Amino acid sequence: MQRILVVEDEPSMRIGLKDNLEFEGYEVEFADDGESGYKNIMTQKFDLILLDVMLPKMNGFDVCRKVRAEGVKIPIILLTAKGEEIDKVLGLELGADDYVTKPFGLRELLARIKAVMRRSTESQPDQIEEAEIGSLIVNFSNYSAFNNGNEIAMSHKEFELLHFLWKNKNKAVSRDDLLKEIWNQEVFTTTRTIDNFIVKLRQKIEEDPNKPKIILTVHGVGYKLIL
Ligand code: CA
Repeated sequence: MQRILVVEDEPSMRIGLKDNLEFEGYEVEFADDGESGYKNIMTQKFDLILLDVMLPKMNGFDVCRKVRAEGVKIPIILLTAKGEEIDKVLGLELGADDYVTKPFGLRELLARIKAVMRRSTESQPDQIEEAEIGSLIVNFSNYSAFNNGNEIAMSHKEFELLHFLWKNKNKAVSRDDLLKEIWNQEVFTTTRTIDNFIVKLRQKIEEDPNKPKIILTVHGVGYKLIL
């Protein structure tokens, strides 16, 4: 389900947006001032941000500027008030993808949301994510792994686990993070499950799985992929 963060300080707007966006099948989260909006954007995953301009604590422009400066590429639609023509231009210059002027019709908003999301997926063409990990050449885009030209069988979960470790290479990743990221709170999953998967990955990657040099155990924390 696609997640939308709505950063908006007016309760009536929030309620209206929540009902309508949820009805359209989106998952909706809220922040009611710029600071908490910024925090949410930096710490959670969203597919789109609806960002009011006039906000307490940090205005929408500053939020937009700050998250773009951090390299966040999530599409942003600004919610501007009537008569703020200059704001629109400024907002787009600051990295917003589009704007909607209040009061807006629901249909217009939904059309813009869909258009911006479509553009954002189109502008990220299939990035081929390939990595050399130990003796393996791993292609995370099409879930294939080769060792000396021979394809290695790996499960979807093994790919996901390896992908996450690789994206966080040379950093310790906690078992809790792995549970959240890879197993997404599936029932019956324990940290023991992760350890078992790590054993399987080591057998495929490490020269000597009993003396791992690539996927290291970080005691009391989790694992670290060294490259
Ligand atoms: Ca406002």
